[in-house]
Amino acid sequence: MSSVAMGQQAVPKDKVVLVIHGGAGTILKSKMTPQKEKAYTDALRASLLAGYDILKTGGSSEKAVEAAIHVMEDSPLFNAGKGAVFTHEGTNELDASIMKGKDGSAGAVAGVTTIKNPITAAIAVMESSPHVMMMGQGAERFAKEQGITQVEPSYFYTEERWDALQRILKEDSKAVELDHNDKQSSTKPEWKDDKFGTVGCVALDNKGDITAGTSTGGMTNKKFGRVGDSPVIGAGTYANKQVGISCTGWGEYFIRNVAAYDVAALMEYRALSALEASKEVIRKIGEMGGDGGMIVLDKDGNVALPFNTAGMYRGYITESGEVKVEIYK
Ligand code: ASP
Repeated sequence: MSSVAMGQQAVPKDKVVLVIHGGAGTILKSKMTPQKEKAYTDALRASLLAGYDILKTGGSSEKAVEAAIHVMEDSPLFNAGKGAVFTHEGTNELDASIMKGKDGSAGAVAGVTTIKNPITAAIAVMESSPHVMMMGQGAERFAKEQGITQVEPSYFYTEERWDALQRILKEDSKAVELDHNDKQSSTKPEWKDDKFGTVGCVALDNKGDITAGTSTGGMTNKKFGRVGDSPVIGAGTYANKQVGISCTGWGEYFIRNVAAYDVAALMEYRALSALEASKEVIRKIGEMGGDGGMIVLDKDGNVALPFNTAGMYRGYITESGEVKVEIYK
């Protein structure tokens, strides 16, 4: 089992008001070019500043989360919006969710194929429908009625993600052959090792309200109809009056551990800190064989960013505008 990294080398001088992740996975410095590293760092920074701009002018944590996530959804670098990974069938099916800690309201969309910014559709579900989660064509119809930007499914094509799927399909067929000929069924699925790239944000506004949001294309080569943790309230996203959490990683494990809610529950019922609670949940996930990470921000501006993968794209910004962006363990 891999260990839990904290990703918290520096302790911020003042309270953190916004924290983001751009996915956890096998992100190794040895495999990164300086150009690529800079592109990720710049994108994370732009996302932090977009959210911070809203907070600093008195905007709500909800609006800040939406703005920060839009930047990453519109970038081909992340597995959300534009850069979404491909399903086994070669399509892109996107999931997103949002939760407001102030009143426990929440919204989510799952398996959408034509919504440019799924986080905005999740917000619309929360604010303009009596529901929490809408899926597939129904969610798309609803988004259209709400005037949310739609795109052709081909908008989500990126060469890098397409090539990743082709590589995995090739590996898969080799694995089946091996399985058949040599009865070696323990071949490790390659998609598990690929960096995931989901995005998420937790923000704390000047009224003390916390909002958490997550957006993803899911996992490369996922089967028809597969939905991960990202749009599942309590699993991939959760917020209450005390804390907000957004997760990334092998979604099945985060669902089975009700990961995001478990952090909030450990804090509420066992009085653990954000750091202690989130480390404990990532430890449990690792013990079961799952991997990933999460970002946690509490009402006092304490931040925790635990993960048990090689890296996690992550960053935060403090009340005075101090920015911190990190990638590796
Ligand atoms: N958690 C996402 C999912 O399982 C993937 C990720 O975080 O990259 O759909």
